[in-house]
Amino acid sequence: MERSYNGFNQYSRSTRPTRRRRAPQSATTHHRAIVPKMVGVASIRVKKDATMSVTPDWKAATQETVAHLSRLIQAETVNPPGNELPAILFIKELLEQEGFRSPDDFVILESAPNRVNLVARLRGDGSQRPLLLSGHVDVVPVEREKWSHDPFGGEVIDGEVWGRGALDMKGFLAMYLQIFLQVRRLRLPLKRDLIFAAIADEEAGFDHGSKFLVTQHRDLIDAEYGLTEGGAFTIPMGKRRIYAIQAAEKGVTWLKMTTSGKPGHASLPHDENAVFYLARAIERIRRAGHLPVHITPTFQAMIAKAAAQVGFPASLLIRSLSYPWVVSLCLKLLKGQPKSLLTALTTNTCTPTILQAGQKTNVIPAEAAVHLDCRRLPGQSPEDVMKEILSLTGAGVSFEPLDTSPGAAFPTESPLYRLLEQETRRLDPQGMVIPMMMPGATDACVYRQAGITMYGFTPGRFPEGFPVLSMAHGHDERIPISFIESGLPVLWAVVQKFCSQS
Ligand SMILES: [Zn+2]
Repeated sequence: MERSYNGFNQYSRSTRPTRRRRAPQSATTHHRAIVPKMVGVASIRVKKDATMSVTPDWKAATQETVAHLSRLIQAETVNPPGNELPAILFIKELLEQEGFRSPDDFVILESAPNRVNLVARLRGDGSQRPLLLSGHVDVVPVEREKWSHDPFGGEVIDGEVWGRGALDMKGFLAMYLQIFLQVRRLRLPLKRDLIFAAIADEEAGFDHGSKFLVTQHRDLIDAEYGLTEGGAFTIPMGKRRIYAIQAAEKGVTWLKMTTSGKPGHASLPHDENAVFYLARAIERIRRAGHLPVHITPTFQAMIAKAAAQVGFPASLLIRSLSYPWVVSLCLKLLKGQPKSLLTALTTNTCTPTILQAGQKTNVIPAEAAVHLDCRRLPGQSPEDVMKEILSLTGAGVSFEPLDTSPGAAFPTESPLYRLLEQETRRLDPQGMVIPMMMPGATDACVYRQAGITMYGFTPGRFPEGFPVLSMAHGHDERIPISFIESGLPVLWAVVQKFCSQS
């Protein structure tokens, strides 16, 4: 299925890179800014700071990032079914304008028709192993009628860029791309290669994106460290602002749990009905509230670092969370989102989703089954999860694994992690910076299989009241321009300090 860049080029000529849309007219037209035109290289003014190191002009760089983001949003890359081609063609065009040449500076790799990945490289002196900046260009589907503005318009309205992927993760990808371009324009001498990867299929199983790259083009993405989505942006928590750098991800264990009973005619009821057995097993899982608590190294680091950033007695309360019985008590007392989050961070989770039983209303089925979406902590195996569920349900159920993938945990004391922490503090000196485990899975867990130490790091400061947590995959997804402007210098500082020779 794979096609080389040259083969790819043949049809790239006949495919328009992105679909430009006319903004729909509405009552809010007076708020609507014209999407900025692409800012040329010439307009990027270079500033020298007090230490005489070269830094980009962040106002101009922000404006340019916004223009790129609008174009990326206009490139519809909804997955499923998956069609990354228009976004990748836009990035290709941009790199070529900047003087990048294929195949020396970048390659485009196609795993299936329209499923494409782009990997670009700036070369260092080779004294250190590369840093990878990886972002996915696919987005989840939209329910158009629920949106206030065109989800694929990429419009700038009241200082925010609107559209599917603005947060997850075309906005962050545009920021990575901006830093990559700046390193090239300013001819930053590098001690390690800087790799930029715009990839496919993060939203539907990784097969055409990170898995494809790791299994078939490992040499292109091989790196010591990598950054991808999911961390270091403002999360409001009460009066505090949290900046959580993703340093771990949970693994996936999807199970089918089956009960067996005595079949028969439904007009002659009996107790040995597989549906009753299944209902009882599910009810026992519900009543338990959660599976056993495990304190992982990432959770331990999270509470230690959080406790160090607050005064007494809050620090004591936070430190007490290193005892599983305290966490269990909190899980009993908490409600809503805090309870969900603490459960995800400290236990293997088990969520019933699909029910299956019976073919006909008047036939008692011999079997009944439920699909369980279980997420396991790093260090736990699918067998561990099944044992924990069995201890709640009791005998009489059987398990069939449907899909499993390992989680990942990365060190929170590595040189890169310490740098991420330090630069995030500069972003918001009053904010609390902590390592965090992602309850879901991203490309990081796939890159880990190639031995790359990955962190979820897409830094920036959201304005107060911005509903960040409900927005990724939600309706009216958008990103404030002020976020981009606050995050770019942080990303630059990380890349410059970690990769440059000086
Ligand atoms: Zn994402």
